[in-house]
Amino acid sequence: MIFDQIGNVYSIVAVLIGLVICLFRYIDKPRRSWVYVTMFLLCMLLSCYYWGAYVLIIGDDPNVSSFLAYVGDNLSFFPLILLLLHIRADGEKRFFSILSLLPVPLTAYQFTIYIQFGGLFNNIWQCFLSTVVIVLSLNNIIYYLKNKKNGAKKPYVGFVLFFYTVFEYAMWTSSCYDWPNEWLDPYNYANLLLFASMITLPWAVIKMDGGKFFERTRTSTQRMGHIFKPLYIVFAVGICLSGCFIGMQFRDTIDSSITGDINSTVYSIVHIELFTFSSILVAFSIAMIFIVNFAHKTLENARLKEEKIIAEKSNIAKSDFLASMSHEIRTPINAVLGMNEMILREGLRVRDKMPSDPDRLHETFVDICNYSGNIESAGNNLLSIINDILDFSKIEAGKMEVIDGDYKLSSVLNDVSNMIYFRAKAKNLKFIVDVDKSLPDGLYGDEIHVRQSVINILNNAVKYTEDGFVKLSVRGKKEIDSQNGYWINLVFEVSDTGIGIREEDMEKLFKRFERVDLEQNKTVEGTGLGLAITQNLLEMMGGKVSVMSKYGIGSTFTITIPQKIVSPEPVGDFKEKFEKEMARTKAYEDGFEAPDARILVVDDTKLNLSVVKGLLKYTKIMIDTAESGAESIELAKDTPYDIIFMDQKMPKMDGSQALSLIREQGGINKDTPVICLTADAVVGAREKYIAEGFSDYLTKPIDRNALEKMLIEYIPDEKVHMTA
Ligand code: ADP
Repeated sequence: MIFDQIGNVYSIVAVLIGLVICLFRYIDKPRRSWVYVTMFLLCMLLSCYYWGAYVLIIGDDPNVSSFLAYVGDNLSFFPLILLLLHIRADGEKRFFSILSLLPVPLTAYQFTIYIQFGGLFNNIWQCFLSTVVIVLSLNNIIYYLKNKKNGAKKPYVGFVLFFYTVFEYAMWTSSCYDWPNEWLDPYNYANLLLFASMITLPWAVIKMDGGKFFERTRTSTQRMGHIFKPLYIVFAVGICLSGCFIGMQFRDTIDSSITGDINSTVYSIVHIELFTFSSILVAFSIAMIFIVNFAHKTLENARLKEEKIIAEKSNIAKSDFLASMSHEIRTPINAVLGMNEMILREGLRVRDKMPSDPDRLHETFVDICNYSGNIESAGNNLLSIINDILDFSKIEAGKMEVIDGDYKLSSVLNDVSNMIYFRAKAKNLKFIVDVDKSLPDGLYGDEIHVRQSVINILNNAVKYTEDGFVKLSVRGKKEIDSQNGYWINLVFEVSDTGIGIREEDMEKLFKRFERVDLEQNKTVEGTGLGLAITQNLLEMMGGKVSVMSKYGIGSTFTITIPQKIVSPEPVGDFKEKFEKEMARTKAYEDGFEAPDARILVVDDTKLNLSVVKGLLKYTKIMIDTAESGAESIELAKDTPYDIIFMDQKMPKMDGSQALSLIREQGGINKDTPVICLTADAVVGAREKYIAEGFSDYLTKPIDRNALEKMLIEYIPDEKVHMTA
């Protein structure tokens, strides 16, 4: 009796814990297995409750409560059968092993000995359902053993239910025999083991589901779970126990009031009592399932709504982006095609009807040069738009990286000033450079991004200034700290005498796709991405950008970037060096010739070969061309070259392979500088190609100035004659 009572309390608690796990598991993963397990546990709860009432309150006679306990118990086999069918693997559905029928004789034996206790109907019902469960679970285990090597799922549920049914049989069978005392009665131990296997059922389903129960993310669902879990346990356990205790109290009260005489009236009251409380219990459990399910759905709906709003917003942003980009891209393409049409027309007119008047001819050529100049500027515009879009999408995708390395500040300043000098000159603007002589030259940081940020700001200054000047001044404050050692806060100040920015537009400047003062800037092309990209790049490098402006008078953008100092050697008089360099540049700007030099240009696109040839026509350099890596290797065998320009991306054999084969074959071109020609302008590309053995790197579309500079650098001095 004592065992029965302990067993019952244990069972109720065990089932409740199992139920709670199931319900909250169901919130996370609403799968059918969890519905079956929940149904099973509810049936068990019902059975345990009635069983408890039967043993504790009513005594050992068969009565309504014991009948209901049996009904609940047997009912629980249904969900188990469904669960076993549900979890079976696809292949397993067609699998049946005759071995799994082994427990059938056991059931037949049990049926014959138990029939005198449980009655015919109860026995047939109980034995039939439990046989199906044990046969299915054994089949499940045999399938696994046969298909272990083919990756069959471990039959956790099959194992648990196999043992569950075995303990059930042990319980029934032992109850058919008399035992000297309770401690020796296997019924009690089998009962405990039965409930132990029952609480392992949710664990088995978790394992089969492949889910890691305790590895949930801290979602709002989980937070809801934390509130519901203790509430549910307290409420359900409370109701269960109070059902029993109130029942007992009723019995005692009524017992004493009718002088200890037990009659049927008392028991009918107790039955009503039992029925009411158990209905509350079941209703509560069902309500919990609904609440939990509803909470799950509400949260899911809220999440979906949120996702929908985000998706819609990003869709609108994408459409806006496409609309604005297609407009930006179409504008320069339109200019290129239109201008080219004019050149064609003028060219054809001259070809077909050569004007006798030299002035007319001269005029036509002047026009052609103008059209061609426009094509160049539209092409450059297009290129910068595409570069902006690429940079921007890289930043958005989180793929923009800061790659630090040693570099020379003077080289960055040189490149930047060189580039802006020509742009400013083309607009008749004065470009002033003012660099603090004492700034250290050897720095450590992301050279490419430093250069790009300064160029972006300087480009804007030139773009939004019609007359006056653009000034770049570079200062810095040296610092020392224990973590970074010596470092400098570089300050680049870019001032212009341009259109300026209105006070109210200031905050929009750094937003992506935001262009301000459109009525003034109608003719200035742009994407509204430059400043957003610059700000992002600077933030990545630990720097910042700020602006001061007076509308109609001019603006000053200030960039600060912290960089480590590698060598204290100062940049020196950069202004003087730059002016000298410009004077030299001016010399070769006017032209140079190298009729004794011979170069090889390798590219699989014929048009690109014609571009290089056209660009170098007046230098009189001897130019050989090859359309593949293999052809270039052949040519390099017998002809000595001063430079080889090698396209990187070619079918069959790429530039790097061709380069290494040229180097391998030795001979006359073993040490010839090979320059990589590539459209791959991403960060780090230069370092990559130089590491592969190229002498230098030139990006496509080819910039004439960069190409000429490279020729002067690599062709032996004695072969180059300045024509100025
Ligand atoms: P974009 O130049 O492609 O339009 P940016 O992000 O570089 O895009 O600049 C955003 C806006 O800031 C520009 O459209 C322009 O109105 C304004 N702006 C930027 N630099 C200057 C400047 N130096 N002077 C006046 N306005 C400027």
